[in-house]
This record gives sequence, structure tokens and C-alpha cells, in this order.
Amino acid sequence: MTLYDRFGLFIGGSWQPAAGGAQVAVIDPATEDRLGHIAKAGPEDLDRTLATLAGAAPAWRAVPGWTRSGLLRAMARGMAERADRAARDMSEETGKPLAEARGEWQAAVDQFDWYADEARRIWGHSLNGREEGVLLDVRYEPVGPVAAFTAWNFPALLPARKVAAALAAGCPIVIKPSEEAPSPMFHIAECAAEAGLPAGVLNVVTGDPAEISAHLIASPVIRKVSLTGSVPVGRLLAGLAGQGLKKVSMELGGHAPVLVFPDVDPEATGALCAKTKFRNAGQVCISPSRFYVHEDIYEPFAAAMARTAREARIGRGLDDGVDFGPMANARGRDRVLDLIEDARGRGAEVLAGGGVPQAHNRGFYVEPTVLGRVPDDACIMTEEPFGPVAPISTFREFDEVIARANGTPFGLASYVFSGSLATANRAAAALETGMVGVNDMLLAAAEIPFGGVKDSGMGREGGQLGILEYLEPKYVKYRYG
Ligand code: NAD
Repeated sequence: MTLYDRFGLFIGGSWQPAAGGAQVAVIDPATEDRLGHIAKAGPEDLDRTLATLAGAAPAWRAVPGWTRSGLLRAMARGMAERADRAARDMSEETGKPLAEARGEWQAAVDQFDWYADEARRIWGHSLNGREEGVLLDVRYEPVGPVAAFTAWNFPALLPARKVAAALAAGCPIVIKPSEEAPSPMFHIAECAAEAGLPAGVLNVVTGDPAEISAHLIASPVIRKVSLTGSVPVGRLLAGLAGQGLKKVSMELGGHAPVLVFPDVDPEATGALCAKTKFRNAGQVCISPSRFYVHEDIYEPFAAAMARTAREARIGRGLDDGVDFGPMANARGRDRVLDLIEDARGRGAEVLAGGGVPQAHNRGFYVEPTVLGRVPDDACIMTEEPFGPVAPISTFREFDEVIARANGTPFGLASYVFSGSLATANRAAAALETGMVGVNDMLLAAAEIPFGGVKDSGMGREGGQLGILEYLEPKYVKYRYG
């Protein structure tokens, strides 16, 4: 009996195996053993999904917003009830500590709760015409069937952001979660069925990512494409969507700079930065990932970061007391180890960690690593590390550090630590990112518009703006009287 036996492809409201019976293995990142197998959708399955979406779209867009709201609220309740099971399965698949998995599951519940409200608040506006007897009306309508693709690092929250928004807007959706951590999306689909969501409105497929995305996005049935993933895959899917002139949202990679000005407590700030950096083993798109610390406070800041890194309790996510798990896959571990070696070779100092933990040479573990005095030409200062390594550099001047912080193609998140509101505000205005944390690093929440600029993507998820990604304005001119 594995995690996946009762699941499969979720098409038209029921679980089914792939038509050809093909499967993909899911690996436990803590042991490198197989956790089980999931269905590998082929062209026949995808065509069935597209036909299901086309069939479901007219009825779902006609369902009143208040009714959609009730269904989303029921899904949120059902999800909250199965938090324990879902978080355990997520922890096993991703290696993330159970407490983090529980927190993420709750954040996914929040998305359904938030969009349950938003489904009732889709409003347009009216203008008086230039002549008497004319009214100009602007209203919002669902864009149509959505194809969505999500990464493995937050395997409940990332799909939830898309599914809840699409359903609230009146769009049916097919989602392809990451094959590396599919179970949270399977649980969400089960909650949808239990809540009474009409069959065919939510569909889930897994298999070969390139084949599935090419097949779905090429279909005229799909009117909207939404991805959370890396920049290269974003370029690929945005290109495919561009061929069909489809609406697109892209939540892509980041490389968040952290600016630490000299008027803060360096030890408390260093400890907070380390705790945030090593959450989910650093595999977070908005993870603080380049630390620019004022020269005057570098030593105590770096020492506090290194100390906090060394205190991490490393192990399998489901084990008691563990607060730092393995990375999700071998390619991530190898990338991080290469980046550490490159930085070392260019003169960076290893202040904590630096390799594979001795007690964990099976599984995809990397020690929480802090690198000091990292030069700007080290690859880690410009390439997204997406792992548990914190490079620290120093600065002296405001303009200099802003230029260095803005000197990558990424623009997702940034962080500023300063005791001066004026300095913090000047920095927040100058940083080229979609989100800025001032003396705070917990940015994600259902009520804010999450997203980036530059290569980090386009569109926003959550907040008042999120639902607009799934709606199109329609202008109607009335002449009366
Ligand atoms: P990825 O780009 O490899 O995968 C993302 C999704 O695209 C998955 O569903 C995957 O199966 C699919 N995919 C992968 N290769 C594909 C291909 N050739 N053709 C079509 N689809 C393909 O990303 P990942 O490794 O799963 O996740 C890590 C990346 O995601 C990081 O860059 C991270 O910053 C980013 N991310 C961004 C956000 C955000 O909100 N901006 C959130 C989480 C993760």
C-alpha cells in the first residue's frame, strides 16, 4: 500500500489510471527509496481532459458567485479537517519538517478561504456616456479553461493559489502538479469532490511535463496558462502560450537580496536571516539569498548567522525535533554543492556547513551553509541557488548596494533591515522587485499580491488583484431612452 494507490488522473470527477497504464516513480528525498508510482498521462488522457474542460466551462461560468463561494468554503473546511494526513504525506514526499508542512497546508486552506470571499466580489464599473441616454458598462467574465503547472517546493500552496483563484472566477482548470510531490494536489482534488464541486471543473494530470504542457497549451480549449516554476520553464511555457495568444501568469525564480544597514541589531538580524534562509532547506522562491551587510556590522552579523546554521537539527522531515530536512532531489543538491565550491575557489570563507552532513550520506542532504566575504563574481551571487546556502558580502554606500542588489535579471522579492524609516523607504522604492520586506521576512499571505518583475515573471497571485488573472473585462455600451 503506497501513498498513491487510491489516486490516478483526476478527470471529469473520478480517479483513473492512464489509458496506456504508464506510470512515473516518486522518490523519498530522505532515503532515495521509491515512495510509489503515479499515473503518466498520454495524449488520449489529455484529449479527454480537454474535452471535459470544454464541456464544463459553460455551466461553471453560469454558476452564481455566491454558489461558487459556498463550494470553495466547503473545500477549505474539508482541507482543514484532513490537515494531519495531508501534511504527513507532504513531509514524506518533500523531506520538509512536519511543522513546515502543516504551516503550508494551512496556507493552502487560507487560499480557498480568501477566494471564497473573492468569488462574491467580482465587480465592474459604469461610466456615464458622453451623450444623454448612454451608459458605458464594464463587467468581468471568466477567461475560460485554465492549464496550470506548479513546482514541488510548496506542493500544496502553489496549486492552491491557482485552483482557488480560477474556480472563484468561474474558470474550469486542469493542473499538473510536480511529479516529485503530487500528493497535496491529490488531497485537494479529493476535498473538491467531497465538497460537491461539479465534475470536470477541476482536473489533475501527471506525467511527462514537457509533453503535457505542449499538448494542453496548444489546444484552443485552453484560454489561460499559469506556471509557478523556474525561469527557463517560464520562457518555454510563455512561448507556447504566445503562439496561441493566451493570457499568461508566470511566478518564476528569484534571488532575493537582503540589505542590512548599520543601524540594526546585527545579532538578532543575523539569527532571523539564518532561520528564514534555511526554511524548507532554502528551497523557497522568495528565500533571502544574497546578504549585503554594512561593513561596520559584518562580523557580529556573520557570526550570528553561522551559529544559527550550526544549531539546525538535521533529519527526515517526519522525525521528531527535526527543523532542517533534505533537499528535494539530487539535481538541487548537486547544484548547491557546485555553487559552494565555486565560491570557495574565488576566495569565499566557509563560516558554517559547506558539504554533505556526515550522518546523512544517503538522501539529498546538504548542510546549512554560510559563506562569508563572497565576491560579486562568484556564481552564487547571480544564479538562483534554491538551496541551503547563504552568501554574505559587505557594502559601504547606499547607491552602491542598490546597484548590486538590482544587478541580476531576477525581481521577485527583496529585504531591507534598517532602524530608519527614511532609509528603508528609500531602499524599498529603489529595489526592482515585486515584493519588499522591511524588517520582516514573512511576505507570503493570501491577502497580498504575490509576484515578481523582470525575469521573475508577470501577474500576481492572491490579494484583491489575484482574481483578475482569471477574468477578462467586457465593455457594453447601452443606449436607452
Ligand atoms: P521547474 O520549472 O522545473 O518546474 C515547474 C513546473 O514546470 C513543474 O510542474 C514541472 O513539472 C514543469 N516543467 C518542468 N520542466 C518542464 C518542461 N521542460 N516543459 C514543461 N513543463 C516543465 O521548477 P521546479 O524545479 O519544480 O521549482 C523550482 C523553481 O520554481 C525555482 O526557480 C523557484 O524559484 C520557482 N518558484 C517560484 C515561485 C514563485 O511564486 N515565483 C514559487 C515557488 C517556486
